[in-house]
Amino acid sequence: MILPYFVQSPLLRAVPGVYHAFTGVDPVRGRGSRDRLRQVFSVPPSRLGTLRQVHSGTVREMAETDCDVPGRRWREGDALWTAVPGTGVGVRTADCVPILLAHPDLPVCAAVHAGWRGMVAGVVGETVRAIAERFGSSAVGGLVAAAGPSAGGCCYEIGEEVASLLRGCPGGDRHLARKGEEGKWHADLRQIALEALFAAGISPGRVEAVGPCTVCSPRFHSFRREKSLTGRQLSFIYKWDFSREFTTPQDRTPDEPAKNPHPD
Ligand SMILES: [Zn+2]
Repeated sequence: MILPYFVQSPLLRAVPGVYHAFTGVDPVRGRGSRDRLRQVFSVPPSRLGTLRQVHSGTVREMAETDCDVPGRRWREGDALWTAVPGTGVGVRTADCVPILLAHPDLPVCAAVHAGWRGMVAGVVGETVRAIAERFGSSAVGGLVAAAGPSAGGCCYEIGEEVASLLRGCPGGDRHLARKGEEGKWHADLRQIALEALFAAGISPGRVEAVGPCTVCSPRFHSFRREKSLTGRQLSFIYKWDFSREFTTPQDRTPDEPAKNPHPD
C-alpha cells in the first residue's frame, strides 16, 4: 500500500492506548481522507470528530455528531477533546500549527488548530483549561503534547500589526525576528505554540515539536507555497477502547454471570 506522508511524536507514541499521526501530502489522489483514515491507520471515520475551523479560541468537547456519521453537524471551533475510549479528534491545517495532546493515566486526548489568530485568541491555553475543568488541575502536569508540521520561522512572514498581537502571547517576542524591509517580521508560530503549552502548565519535558516547516517541505501542504490550490492535512489522535477486546472470562468477578457475546 502507498502511504501518505506522516510524522509522529515519540512522546505521544509512548502514551499507552493512543494512536496519532500528523499526515501530509497523500500520493494516492482521488481518495477521500475518510477512506485513507480507515485503510492506512485503521481508525474509523465515524468515531473521529472534527470541527469547522474558524481561527477562534473556541474549545469543544467532542459529540458524536462531530464525526463522519449520518446527520453530522458541523460545529465551529478550533480545539476538540474527547474522554471516550474508542473515539478520536482531528484538525486540518496547511501552515497553522496542529497540536495533539494526551495523558498517560486519563482517557482524554485533544487536537488543536492554532494559527496566529487562534494563538492570539488563546486557543492553546483554553484547551488545557477545558481538560483541567473536567479532570482537575492536577491533570495538567501529566499532559503530553506535540506540535506538528507548520510554517516555520524561516518562511512565515507577517506585518507589524500581526507581530504586535503575537508579542502579547506568552514568550511571543522571543520568536519574532525582523527580516528585510521595515515593518516585516518572521514569526516562529510553532515555538509560540510551545510557549503557550508551557504557560498553561505543561512541563517542557512533556512537550515537543515534530516534522518540518510546511512551506519548505513538499511533503506537507502549505497555504503560503501552494496558494489557493492548497490541500489540508489531517492531524489526529485516537484513543483505543481496550475494555472489550482484552476482557477474558478470567477477568470476571466470580458472581457475575457470563455474558453471551452474541445475543439474539
Ligand atoms: Zn520554511
